[in-house]
Amino acid sequence: MRVNTDLHIHSRYSAAVSKDMNLPEIAREAAKKGVKIVGTGDCLFPLWLDDIRALPEKDGLFALGETLFALTVEVEDAHRVHHLILLPDISKAEELKESLERRSTNLEADGRPRVSMNGAEIADLALEADGLIGPSHAFTPWTGIYAHYRSLADCYQEKAEHLGFIELGLSADADYADRIAELSKRTFLSNSDAHSPRTNKLAREFNQVEMQDLSYKDLCMAIRRKGGRRMTLNVGFYPDEGKYNRTACTRCFRQYTAREKDELLGHCPVCGGQIKLGVKDRVDALADYPEAMHPDHRPPYLHLIPLAEIIARAIGHKSPQTAGVQRIWNSLTAEMTEIEVLVEADLADLKAETKVVDAIRAFREGSVVVSPGGGGKYGEIRLPAAQGGKEKQRSLFEF
Ligand SMILES: [Zn+2]
Ligand SMILES: [Zn+2]
Repeated sequence: MRVNTDLHIHSRYSAAVSKDMNLPEIAREAAKKGVKIVGTGDCLFPLWLDDIRALPEKDGLFALGETLFALTVEVEDAHRVHHLILLPDISKAEELKESLERRSTNLEADGRPRVSMNGAEIADLALEADGLIGPSHAFTPWTGIYAHYRSLADCYQEKAEHLGFIELGLSADADYADRIAELSKRTFLSNSDAHSPRTNKLAREFNQVEMQDLSYKDLCMAIRRKGGRRMTLNVGFYPDEGKYNRTACTRCFRQYTAREKDELLGHCPVCGGQIKLGVKDRVDALADYPEAMHPDHRPPYLHLIPLAEIIARAIGHKSPQTAGVQRIWNSLTAEMTEIEVLVEADLADLKAETKVVDAIRAFREGSVVVSPGGGGKYGEIRLPAAQGGKEKQRSLFEF
């Protein structure tokens, strides 16, 4: 069976996360979206773990309504690099918490703890707890592994070969990552890193997985591509939309080439601000191949944005929260999940006006127009002019 999964979110116990990030709300929104397995996030945090523990557990997954939760946590290391960990059961989560506790000052204060260890030490403890570990949002400037290191081994040393996956993050896709030779053996995850349970955040990136049983073991086998289990689709944003996609000034957002940045010693001649190297140029610098070389096991990568954002663009509304957008969203999803509408449904069966259906088609066909972001300013995405898109629309991230 094909199962949609989003394995990286945060609970209301992490900094800057919506108070609505509680298990019942997440379960309800995930069901509307069409995601079956959601990572709990923050599973080392005592109060959140208590909430999870109260749910009925079967085969390593915790059930609430139609949704199943897998134990996950994100940890920040001494260099501010983020790591995502999946764990098989509550006792292993408690074990990992105990072993990290000695090197963390905020394990009881933040759902995403910071520990004074390097990637290799964290990987060692995660593997000892029978966990699956990999870098979170690997290409993100500031907290992604490739912002700090040139290779997985630079960060994880001899533990690099035991990594379970690489999380691509919102700013990269399989075309970016498959230009780097050391990643071709690796499984890519595309997760939302959501800080709000609403369906325009939760599972804004997700993975479709081929599983035989709905169990934690099967999920890990799929990530490890064992026994016929595997990833069948990565879904996520266009990397160009990311706010650090291009090299640009962090104050005035003027974009530069990587070479110009070096020649200017990182100082913007227009405003004196700092020029930040973009993800695209960082990938160019690290790349072993001029074009992506996808290995046979790599699933397709579908570029999508949440349905409410697509509807807002199609009808020319500034926000996906307007009553008009919500009315169309409700009618489209009355008989199917949001992911079915976006990815699977026959377009002729969709109950919406033509311009909305045309907009969904434009995303499926990849005919949208993206102007890249950089320096902390998100990119903009537009529907092809013929499909009713307004010429100039605000970034979807500004909503
Ligand atoms: Zn992170
Ligand atoms: Zn500037």
